[in-house]
Amino acid sequence: MGKYQDLHKLSIEDPEAFWKPIAEKIFWYKKPDKVLDASRPPFYKWFVGGVTNTCYNAVDRWVEAGKKDQPAYIWVSSELNQERTITYGQLLDEVVQFASVLKNSGVKKGDRVLIYLPMVPEACISALACVRIGAIHSIVFAGFSTESLAVRIDDAKPKMVICADAGHRAGKPVPLKSIIDEALDRTEYKVPLVVVLDRGLVKPNMVAGRDMFWKDIVAQKGKDSVPCEQVASSDPSYILYTSGTTGKPKGALRDTGGHIVALYNSMETIYGCKPGEVYWAASDVGWVVGHSYIIYAPLFYGLTSLIYEGTPIHPDPGIWFRIIEKYKVDRMFTSPTAFRVLKKFDEKHITGRDLSSLKVIFLAGEPLDAPTWEWATRVTKNIPIIDHYWQTESGWAILTNPWGVEQVTIKPGSPTFPSWGWDLKVVDPAGKEMPAGEKGVLVAKPPIPPGCLMTVYGDDERYESAYFKQFPEFLYATGDYAIKDKDGYYFVLGRADEVIKVAGHRLGTREIEEAILSHSAVAEVCTIGIEDKEKGQVPVAMVVLKEGQKPSDELKKDINQTVRNNVGAIASVHEIEFVVKLPKTRSGKIIRRVVKALFEGKDIGDLSTIEDGTSVDEIRQAIKDVVKLK
Ligand code: AMP
Repeated sequence: MGKYQDLHKLSIEDPEAFWKPIAEKIFWYKKPDKVLDASRPPFYKWFVGGVTNTCYNAVDRWVEAGKKDQPAYIWVSSELNQERTITYGQLLDEVVQFASVLKNSGVKKGDRVLIYLPMVPEACISALACVRIGAIHSIVFAGFSTESLAVRIDDAKPKMVICADAGHRAGKPVPLKSIIDEALDRTEYKVPLVVVLDRGLVKPNMVAGRDMFWKDIVAQKGKDSVPCEQVASSDPSYILYTSGTTGKPKGALRDTGGHIVALYNSMETIYGCKPGEVYWAASDVGWVVGHSYIIYAPLFYGLTSLIYEGTPIHPDPGIWFRIIEKYKVDRMFTSPTAFRVLKKFDEKHITGRDLSSLKVIFLAGEPLDAPTWEWATRVTKNIPIIDHYWQTESGWAILTNPWGVEQVTIKPGSPTFPSWGWDLKVVDPAGKEMPAGEKGVLVAKPPIPPGCLMTVYGDDERYESAYFKQFPEFLYATGDYAIKDKDGYYFVLGRADEVIKVAGHRLGTREIEEAILSHSAVAEVCTIGIEDKEKGQVPVAMVVLKEGQKPSDELKKDINQTVRNNVGAIASVHEIEFVVKLPKTRSGKIIRRVVKALFEGKDIGDLSTIEDGTSVDEIRQAIKDVVKLK
């Protein structure tokens, strides 16, 4: 473990010495004067004084280096049975065109643009066009619905919204423009311009004076040659909203220089990429994995990035492996859920394919259970399956097997060791380090490395209180429980807060609760995540109805429909239980572990008071109070 250990130690003890040579590998209009400014914790600035551009590092750089004919993106839609290869040269043309649209529509440096697109190349093109002119994009996962969108629009106040007529999933169109219309009816902020990508899937309703088709606006306003804006390293590049413990999502704000350097380095030292390879992150551009490893990092490193529209099992469970075979994919990144889904089908879909191009598969997003790891290793005939752990906030790996530097022995179920610049500890609520093998909360000693969130968009105070004030000395709180074993391997056990991961998608139970509370029959609700064999976790809800309301299956369906309409189908509530009273402490706080135990049909176990300070009596009383209604 020498090489990893030495490098990791250097990254903690001397960030300047660690990051300076890495920063030299990216393009700067003006080189940074200083690696790190930590004078105002917890606001850390990386590569201070540096001037660069994200789009230049992703696109122009490679065209100028003579790679214009190399594919930058390969788009495969198993939904529409279509494919498209976009070379770096073609990509530059399309990005410049859309940058011209942005400029001529009045979008300037620092303005926000909200992107609500399915898995189409235009999602990447419009993001790159934004960063080209220094505008801040905010991509919203196209599985989110009206209320989730409206909250994000009101927070980001975008000058432009970009959407499509529809996405396509499991063989059916999923309208998107109509959801934008409904969301815009709810927002306080009025969006002046909506650009609609017409895929010919459904007929979108166009609002005169506000909405324009992509094709038309490009023809009208896309003719200028727009150079890359020179932006400071610490100027923001994008906002990505993520769920937390309150109903309002947090807009994680990413910088420019730190983001490019960190992602570039991850391709080399974590994923072990070689120039010219094909990299496939089978995620969605609406999540952080899609931002980092579909849109950006493969291009920062001059690779070909595969954009996939579809599921792993449509039209059949062999689709992913045919794509790997056809495009000779070198490295893949997906979620444990994808493998748990594939596990249900005949393994010949995988074993029958030539996967010889594939060197490694990385997984993240949720805990990877050992049986799924063992199954995946077997059916891929020993392709290394590497678990790594990170978050929207970090933008890249916090825990990883440092594959590109040193391939350390895998312990199934463990995302291995701290990544570069992450000084991790497993602590108790007072911030005291737990002994090896004991559960605690995973925290990091500041500074947090380059590429992490700079702040919460428009809310520095929330950035401090959500991440740095729960523990002493500005320790960064990941929000996850973890164990560090005697060999230094970390095991991540799940969230310590009210966030759940459904098939790798991050949702706040509070957002689901707010949707349920908006139903006219509901008085009180508690939503939690319970274990699910395939999706990892699913949301369930305990509901107290308003007086005079009768419990029924129809009402359950109706409540669930409200969740689907407001948050999205991914938040669909697995089970709703009507009760007379929620289990609460004397002071009125819901005892969530009682709700969990009741749903999982488990014994409440040892009625320990440790985790939430609730007394045994209160728990007993609370359980008695929960009378289920049929
Ligand atoms: P997101 O911000 O959507 O990337 O979600 C981040 C959360 O996903 C983390 O805080 C963890 O709870 C969970 N997570 C991500 N990767 C892993 C992993 N490899 N093992 C366990 N949990 C993970």
